Formats: sequence, structure tokens, C-alpha cells
Amino acid sequence: MKTILAIHTGGTISMSQNSEGEVVPNATNPIAQKQVILKGKINLVTDEMFNLPSPHVTPEIMLKIMKRIKKAIADGVDGVVVTHGTDTLEETAYFLDLTLPNTVPIVVTGAMRSSNEIGSDGLYNFTSAISVAAADESYGKGVLVVMNDEIHTARYVTKTHTTNVATFRTPTFGPIGVISKDRPYYFQKLITGEVCNIDQVVDHVYLLKAYSGMESTLFEAIDNPDTNGLVIEGLGAGNLPPQTLPGIQKILDDDIPIVLVSRCYNGVAQEIYDYEGGGIQLKKMGITLCQGLNGQKARIKLLVGLSAGKKGDELTKFVKDAVS
Ligand code: ASP
Repeated sequence: MKTILAIHTGGTISMSQNSEGEVVPNATNPIAQKQVILKGKINLVTDEMFNLPSPHVTPEIMLKIMKRIKKAIADGVDGVVVTHGTDTLEETAYFLDLTLPNTVPIVVTGAMRSSNEIGSDGLYNFTSAISVAAADESYGKGVLVVMNDEIHTARYVTKTHTTNVATFRTPTFGPIGVISKDRPYYFQKLITGEVCNIDQVVDHVYLLKAYSGMESTLFEAIDNPDTNGLVIEGLGAGNLPPQTLPGIQKILDDDIPIVLVSRCYNGVAQEIYDYEGGGIQLKKMGITLCQGLNGQKARIKLLVGLSAGKKGDELTKFVKDAVS
């Protein structure tokens, strides 16, 4: 008999539609009340830890979820499912991936349709997530995201649609596996990365998106003593408008780490172009080019690295490669 801990944190999976058609949180969490039909021998233990829409989730809350899971692992649980709002699900999942030992399956899931809507996907996704967390094949795959019959790695999955149930996708690489009739089938192996043991989280790590004609204004606005780090979603293969450079140089002069990813949906940021604002110049200036992560994931990685006390070359190495 496997013991699976379900930690509920809120989101649409815990909400209902009212008579006006508005989707609202409930005092009693419907996903925690529903009868889950479990195939196989599973002892499901429930912790209604939070009931938050995911735009209310902060790195401090991610830290609390991580600590709760660490305790459960120490207590001998065989797998963990976290239910979460989908808006920031990928950030919490990746935070857990970077901070928890890769020992038991940890699966994050959510829903695009609330508990009483026609075609609600909450109970289905929850049941799928439990099957994945309880499967022997799911060990050693890092934190997984299960939605709509697909299994994704926390590292690369992203929300791609505002309402469609097939919103979670893994650009460039595809899902690591699929679920068919309650059974997971894996088709890819995970390249394991460094796990950071953290006990607190730093704040003031920012994310800015580049656009044509961008100037230094926003960079000047965040260049202050409280700022701990910055991620920029750059253009194309990793370039920035030249007018941004004076503001960026000042941030670097103030010893604030800057990480560059691409705002493109597919591909990686690289030093390819040698012109004013091109990736070659940005790297020479001291910006870290991070490969394969999107902006919100790179921000979580920078935040976790800083929270682990990394700086200088050690921080650059940790953030640079998507796998390290
Ligand atoms: N806005 C909701 C949330 O993230 C969306 C969802 O859960 O699907 O909490």
C-alpha cells in the first residue's frame, strides 16, 4: 500500500461557478471533499494547506509548501500531489524542483474549469496526478506537472492558453510522458540538476520583458539598493535594443546579477550577434545567458540561487545551464 499526500493550495480546481457565471473561491474546498476513485492500493492523506488563487502565491508560500513536503518525505510518504492554481503553477512546480531532493514522485496539478462547470477537469487531473505519484516508473523524474493526460517536467512546462484544458505545454522538447487510462507512460529521461537546500527566500528579484524601442527608463527605476537580481526576456536569440544598455550597465556596476532569456516561445538565448545590444556584447558586459528556461522560470532559478547564498561565478554557473 502506497501512501500519497495530497496538499491543496487553491486555484480553479478548488473553486466553483456561481449563478452569475463568475468563478469564485469556496469556504470548503470541493476537491478535498470529492470521492476519488483510486485504482490500486493507495492510502490518500489530505492536507488543506492553503486556499489561494495562484496570483496570490508568493515565494514565501512556495517555501512553506516545500517545507511541508520535506517533512512528509522524512515521515516516509511514497509520493506527493500538490493542487494549485494554474496561473503560477509552473513557478511553484519549478521552485519545488530546485529545492527538494529527487527521492519520491512529486506531482503538481490544477484545473482550467472549476468544480461545478460542465466538463470540469479538476477531479480528472487530480486522479491522474495521484496515479502518477503512486507509479513506480515516476521515481527520479524531478517535480512533474500532470494536466490533461500529459506529464511534463516542472523545468520546461508552461501555461500557453488562458482557458483551454490543453493549456500546459513543453515548448521545444515536448512532454516527458503521457497518461493512458490511469497509467503513466514515459518517453524521455530527465537530465538531473542541482538541488539547493534553502531555508528562506530573498525578495526583489525582477523580471522585465524587452520590446522594440525599449529604453533605459525601467532599468533605472529598479536600480536601487534593495534590488537583488533581474531577469530580462530579451529579443530573438538573446539581444536587446541599444538604448537599454546605459541603464543595464549601471545595474551591473551596482553588482546586481542580470540574467537574459529569450522572449521567444521556443529555443535558447545565445551569444550569436555582434552589434550594439547583440548577445555577444551582453555577455561581455557580464549578463548571464540562461539556456532553455522562460522568463518566469529563470526568475525562480535566480531567486533560489540567491536564496542559497550563491554569488559570482557560482551563481552564474547555477543559472546559466538549464540543467545545473
Ligand atoms: N486564476 C486561477 C488561478 O491560478 C486559474 C486556475 O487555477 O486555473 O488560481
